[in-house]
Amino acid sequence: MLPVAPPAVRWITRTLEEAGHETWAVGGAVRDALLGRPSEDWDLATHARPKTVRSLFRRTVPIGIEHGTVGVLSRDGTLYEVTTFRKDVETDGRHAVVAFADTIADDLGRRDFTINAIAWHVVREELFDPFDGVADLRDGILRTVGEAEDRFSEDHLRILRALRFAGRFGLEIEEGTWRGARALVERLTELSPERVREELLKVLSDEHDPTRTLELYADSGALAVLYPELERTRSENPVGWCATLAAVEFLPKGRPDWRLAALLRPLPADEVARVLLRLRLSNARMDEVARLASAPPLPSDASTDADIRRWLSANGPQRLNALARLDLAFARAAWSDAGPSAGDRVEGPSSTLHAPARPESVVDAWCRARAIRRSRPPLSVSDLELDGRALISLGMKPGPHFGDVLEGLLAWVLEEPSRNERPLLEARALELAQALRGAAPGHWNG
Ligand code: ATP
Ligand code: MG
Repeated sequence: MLPVAPPAVRWITRTLEEAGHETWAVGGAVRDALLGRPSEDWDLATHARPKTVRSLFRRTVPIGIEHGTVGVLSRDGTLYEVTTFRKDVETDGRHAVVAFADTIADDLGRRDFTINAIAWHVVREELFDPFDGVADLRDGILRTVGEAEDRFSEDHLRILRALRFAGRFGLEIEEGTWRGARALVERLTELSPERVREELLKVLSDEHDPTRTLELYADSGALAVLYPELERTRSENPVGWCATLAAVEFLPKGRPDWRLAALLRPLPADEVARVLLRLRLSNARMDEVARLASAPPLPSDASTDADIRRWLSANGPQRLNALARLDLAFARAAWSDAGPSAGDRVEGPSSTLHAPARPESVVDAWCRARAIRRSRPPLSVSDLELDGRALISLGMKPGPHFGDVLEGLLAWVLEEPSRNERPLLEARALELAQALRGAAPGHWNG
């Protein structure tokens, strides 16, 4: 299928060409259009230098002037990236240093894979495909532009990009490309954590199944180099790894953090923390993913309402939906006919760390927990009808033990929410203080 560009892309192209500068649509949009997939990010490559581009359009944004990229705001309100032709001049494996170039041929020559190095002239409706990317697309082959080892040593990120594109489009990685990737896989550690993280998040937010890509991570050795903890669980428990990938896939693509938590779920908490630290996520995001990855499963059918309240209190009621979705994803992966362990049904679910409940019981537990949450029971110390000041007015001396008393009161109230009344709490607080005083003499003189 030939690419059909939005009218605004034609308008930008025509404007540049009328000023004497050859301009082509390049990259992902051309590839996706040839595959018959809708593409939104239409990038243009042009002979014009950034200054010229800025002078030709009324509304522009200097997105990355030093890399030659100017954002042109079209009348339909979309920002299109227009980038001056470039070529690699120097590379260190971590980044490619580029310079402006004069021809589209130069520009395509610095691109990573043949399928990403196809140019489409949206006005002349003409393809420029010097590396036979169209044939590779048709034959389902992922191949580097030029010698694989050279291209991968110029920028190691291209190894991960190869895995992602092959996984996303179900392409076979051409033999030389695969050999080159395998040969340089150890060098992935030289990449900045931010680039590695952004790649992983792209894999996890991929609209198409991330499973194939993650399996390619494993097969290529990239998993062992970047995520040795995951490689260990995979080799120790291949069925569990397979179930984990299926669980990732059962989670929505718009929730990469849930998917990341699912991927890390089989790991012990300290390893989860180590992986997240290495990825340099923000502290808040790291904390959230770690909590999702390491939370105990929802209380099962046999549990009491008090068990459910304790679970909500410990894990945060605001995480109920995310955690239920995670449990459900693992349950479906283990039990559904489509799941990887469908063949093991008679023997029960595959052994993952959190031996998953059946999907029906996760849904039951989720509904019960939602009903309990809606009844708004006290779930944290701040929900108690008694605070530190109240303890002082009971004659206790302030100190760190207040925390123990309040935690003790919360545990008592989680057991039975109707106990959350001032007089009952005061009486209980005195009992707790007494008990704690017995346990730790010297701390107490209240
Ligand atoms: P996606 O749908 O994931 O955005 P894409 O092909 O558009 O896929 P981008 O990362 O947006 O990928 O890059 C746009 C284009 O720039 C690519 O198609 C490729 O031609 C080129 N490119 C991007 N990163 C590299 C790289 N590290 N080395 C060489 N070429 C690259
Ligand atoms: Mg893109």
